[in-house]
Amino acid sequence: MMNVPFYSLDYVNRTLGDALRESFSDVLDSKWFIRGNRCSEFEETFAAYCGKKACVGVGNGLDALTLMLKASIILGRMAEGDEVIVPANTFVATVLAVRAAGLVPVLVEPDRETCVLDASRLAEAYSAKTRAVLVVHLYGRLANMPAICEFAKSKGLLVFEDAAQAHGAFLDERNVIASPFDELRVNSAKQSDAAAYSFYPTKNLGAMGDGGAVVTDDLELAQVVRSLGNYGSYEKYVNKYVGVNSRLDEIQAAILLAKLPHLDSWNKRRQEIADRYCAEIKNPLVRVTPVPAKPKSHVWHVFPVFSEKRYELQKFLKERGVETLIHYPIPPHLQEAFNGALSRGELRYGTLPIAEELALTELSIPMGPAMTDDQVSYVIEMINSYAL
Ligand SMILES: *Cc1c(COP(=O)(O)O)cnc(C)c1O
Repeated sequence: MMNVPFYSLDYVNRTLGDALRESFSDVLDSKWFIRGNRCSEFEETFAAYCGKKACVGVGNGLDALTLMLKASIILGRMAEGDEVIVPANTFVATVLAVRAAGLVPVLVEPDRETCVLDASRLAEAYSAKTRAVLVVHLYGRLANMPAICEFAKSKGLLVFEDAAQAHGAFLDERNVIASPFDELRVNSAKQSDAAAYSFYPTKNLGAMGDGGAVVTDDLELAQVVRSLGNYGSYEKYVNKYVGVNSRLDEIQAAILLAKLPHLDSWNKRRQEIADRYCAEIKNPLVRVTPVPAKPKSHVWHVFPVFSEKRYELQKFLKERGVETLIHYPIPPHLQEAFNGALSRGELRYGTLPIAEELALTELSIPMGPAMTDDQVSYVIEMINSYAL
């Protein structure tokens, strides 16, 4: 029997251990731990990597989402009480951020195959109170940004991206997700207003603690996000907004700077593994997500499979040394925290059947740059041998 962990950070220690130790000791020697040179350098480097003008480091992904939305309210582009369209199968943080900013999340069903926002459902979710779409590139799969931006443009909506699972995903060779599609740029059509990233340790680009960032071409928005993360002040002890304390510290920035140059090759390894999973998992009891048309548009933060007998499959794999997780077992609208009162109407079990089906059947199988070819083969063999 082989042991295959769900995700291992071995590859980081193996390839970068010394560099990371050096990063730590550089910060130690600098005796400057918050909002210093490393944070600025990382912000510049990551903005350039994303093809965007500005990046603001914050404390975590939830704060990146919340502050991006709050800053848009401060700038008068939205108002508290406005509706924001969000995919119903997202990680809870997306919805928490909308609520924290005083906005109303309107949950829409995802596409059952790709698990991301279904652009064809935007029209029915839209109301006179809708002011924005918050796209989530779930599992690292890019949502259909051209179609979503086109709809947003036709209604004058803002577009935000929750890119916490999609660092380095490309629409094509040149455009990262926070950038517009070429045709959109040429037509000067609407593009995403800002994207929020998380650097939680297990994300495709992870820190060694919490971290997050807002990436945007909108310098005004970036400035307000930066101020909001620093008690709402631009000038020490002068408070312009009701802010919070949410900053990317120097140690995390130094770690991220050391890791960023490797992100593309790590994502490439994820894509190789996913290609094999897509081609070689053949079991009528296990549904595999389809391969995206543009191969680089997916960075496989998670590789989901779907099975009616999800828990049985999970147990079967566990007994054979293969560790799996579920992303996510309870969709936001059924979480006790929201008490059925999320969005416009009452949201009970049965109101969002696709999101509910995905939550009941999803199983995330091992994925990550550390996986060996033998481990990939073993996972495939075990899944294919599963029978009732
Ligand atoms: C991880 C994640 C977040 C939250 O990021 P934190 O850094 O953990 O706050 C938000 N949205 C999605 C889709 C995520 O995967």
